[in-house]
Amino acid sequence: MSDLTLVLLAAGEATRFKKPVKKQWLRIGSDPLWLHVLETFRAMQLFDRLVVVGHADELHYMKRHTNDEKVRFVEGGTSRQASLNNALESVDTPLVLVSDVARPCVDETVCKTLLSAVERADCTVPTLPVPDTVWYDGEPIDRKHLLRIQTPQLSRTEILKKALDSGTEFTDESSAIHAMGGKVAFIAGDASLHKLTFAGDIALLPCLTSPDTSVRFMGTGFDVHAFEKGKPMRLGGVNIEAPMGFKAHSDGDVAIHALIDALMGAAGMGDIGELFPDTDAAWAGADSAKLLRHVVHLLTHTGYEIVQADITIVAQTPRISPYKDAMRFRLAELLQLPPQHMNIKATTSEKLGFVGRGEGVAVQAAATLKFFDWTQS
Ligand code: MG
Repeated sequence: MSDLTLVLLAAGEATRFKKPVKKQWLRIGSDPLWLHVLETFRAMQLFDRLVVVGHADELHYMKRHTNDEKVRFVEGGTSRQASLNNALESVDTPLVLVSDVARPCVDETVCKTLLSAVERADCTVPTLPVPDTVWYDGEPIDRKHLLRIQTPQLSRTEILKKALDSGTEFTDESSAIHAMGGKVAFIAGDASLHKLTFAGDIALLPCLTSPDTSVRFMGTGFDVHAFEKGKPMRLGGVNIEAPMGFKAHSDGDVAIHALIDALMGAAGMGDIGELFPDTDAAWAGADSAKLLRHVVHLLTHTGYEIVQADITIVAQTPRISPYKDAMRFRLAELLQLPPQHMNIKATTSEKLGFVGRGEGVAVQAAATLKFFDWTQS
């Protein structure tokens, strides 16, 4: 154990990656890439604390993957540097090792070599020579003066904090510390630390093993809403002709709410109230289709594909059967599913209970997910 914190930057938008799944969520077996990288670092037993920086939309889900007290999750910013600054606020060890999740094939030897060189500089970085001939501004230049900089990089925490405080945007810690006159030392990097930027980079990263596509994840959801007179009724994403709607913080689409819970259940994401708290004014009167779309994007970005969904609407009134098909096509569209993989069932409660007394509607839902196979598409 040393006086060392790991910062793992995993908050990027991954816009250049051009796959439905964000690169930090590629499934390696069944673990997301960021967790796979975190576990690799954790197994080295070098760190007092490990800080993972995640995208604001994904932080809630990330936190559900570990209860290790040494691991802390921090919300990312709009740039790499803003994310790093957020992370550094919670770093109180003298040394910090910063790594990009985009360099996933982390090498323990490189980390130990960085640590052994700690006395030599304010920032120590792995580098590679440039084997190609390089032209700059119309002239070939001597490549022996060129170095490719990799991560992870080891920095003195206080110096790095000051260096990043200058207002200038840097692409890494070594440039920031160099710009303020700090000393940067180089060690030999490793080709395995190649950066994952484009989908084509996957072939150069042997640690990225295939997702386990044999598993199906199943989730269930259940929701009840009472009727409220004088409100329009939305159910299963369609308008229903009825003299009342549902009492709710959002539009009260009880079928979509149950479906969201089934999807979140399958992914181990918690429940609808955790993502869209009814204390949050942003969701007051919200179209539930918007909430469902948000969850579908979240599932897609985090490495899932929806396989099918099935819901049962329990209502004494209004009559559901005339709307079943419209709901099915609408929900299939929202889930980006073939319509035959979205099923709607309707039943009464034989005049029993609150449903039978015409006080409200109950909906039960089930959904199945699998991991997106990034090796195939
Ligand atoms: Mg609800």
